[in-house]
Amino acid sequence: MKVSFFGGAGEVGRSCILVKSDKSKILLDAGVKLGAVEEYPQIRDSDLKGIDGIFISHAHLDHFGYLPHIFTAGYRGKVYATKPTIELINIAIRDYMNISKPKNVTSQGLAEMAKHFEIIEYGKPFRLKDLTIKVVQSGHILGSAITTVSDGKHTIMYSGDMNMAQTRLLPGADMKNARADTLIIESTYGAKNDIFPPEKEVSQKLMASIKETLHKGGKVIIPTFGVGRAQEVLFMLDDFMNSGILPKAPIYISGVINKIMRIHRHNVIYCRREVQMRILMSDSDPFKSKNFVPVESNELRGKIVKEKEASIIVTTSGMLTGGPVMYYLARLARDPMNKLILVGYQAEGTLGRALQEGAREVTVNRAKVKVNLTVETFHLSAHADRKQLEAAIAKVHGLKNVFVVHGEKSKSEDLRMHIANKYNAIVPEPIKEYHV
Ligand SMILES: [Zn+2]
Ligand SMILES: [Zn+2]
Repeated sequence: MKVSFFGGAGEVGRSCILVKSDKSKILLDAGVKLGAVEEYPQIRDSDLKGIDGIFISHAHLDHFGYLPHIFTAGYRGKVYATKPTIELINIAIRDYMNISKPKNVTSQGLAEMAKHFEIIEYGKPFRLKDLTIKVVQSGHILGSAITTVSDGKHTIMYSGDMNMAQTRLLPGADMKNARADTLIIESTYGAKNDIFPPEKEVSQKLMASIKETLHKGGKVIIPTFGVGRAQEVLFMLDDFMNSGILPKAPIYISGVINKIMRIHRHNVIYCRREVQMRILMSDSDPFKSKNFVPVESNELRGKIVKEKEASIIVTTSGMLTGGPVMYYLARLARDPMNKLILVGYQAEGTLGRALQEGAREVTVNRAKVKVNLTVETFHLSAHADRKQLEAAIAKVHGLKNVFVVHGEKSKSEDLRMHIANKYNAIVPEPIKEYHV
């Protein structure tokens, strides 16, 4: 088979991998790269038409955000993904269109996209011409998948974004029967020193930090990815508040996260058994906690920033590239009593990264804003760290080739060097075709 990487090679963002067999051509993911300027996969529109199917690993924009353009460019084939992924894409795409307003998308393209989704299930092999495709749990967000593509002679396994450890919401990646001769693996945290402390330790420090701000009467803003991180953070806040470790304060949920919570609830079968059990015992339904206050009107939004009330605001977007977080930041950044807590990956060139690196004056919606609030970072990543990536690679039977993708170049290179004595390890160049 042949593989080319039209994005996500030496970078995080615009994941888009073309796999060709004797008889078929498929795309694994079709993402965009968010940042100061939005970037798209380097695949030509003319190359999109001959594609037999597109497989989306999960509902993050860096993996599916290019779909509206692909349909605008005339593609009319199917897009395969798990049920929650399709539902989450349908929500997240509206948010993306409102915030980013991409110029390469028409409303007809969007409408066509909505008509061409098809559900694939974890663990059920799927036939497409000469290919057999299988997806399993990747542990990253609700519905996220590791995808295996085989033409009978060779097998390519694509990690998508993965997490080996179980979280409050999800089981870890399912690598039980992993077998492939080629692995395409993410490396968001692929560098030698990307080793995360245990979640328990991080969550305790995070809660101590939030508690300190609440005691002073300040407000804590937690920007997160709407899908995945937000639910993990909310579950954690709820647990610690119910056990009395955090003082009682409203946890405002602002923006698209509210809809996404509902999707999690009715797809709870894709979550850990413990979460399913809690919903069955309806008095401890974690999605409907009394601590949560959905913010669904501008009036309430205004009240939250004006009132002298200690509170927690969980909102999007996670890297401060748009969304309601911009509203809260613009109004709450000047007050040193408040705190901004970053819990996810901050891409280069984003406002989130600038704040993380200590910027004390930033531009929000074209206005200059002085930053006096405290900015802190806690690693609650939904990605495997370096140790987990090494463990994942070691679990794949019959492995020969490893393409290291979805990481800043230095991190991908670091992981590549570490495994180069055992495998044919490559940080691929964009566009170039590789034979496997
Ligand atoms: Zn992701
Ligand atoms: Zn990603």
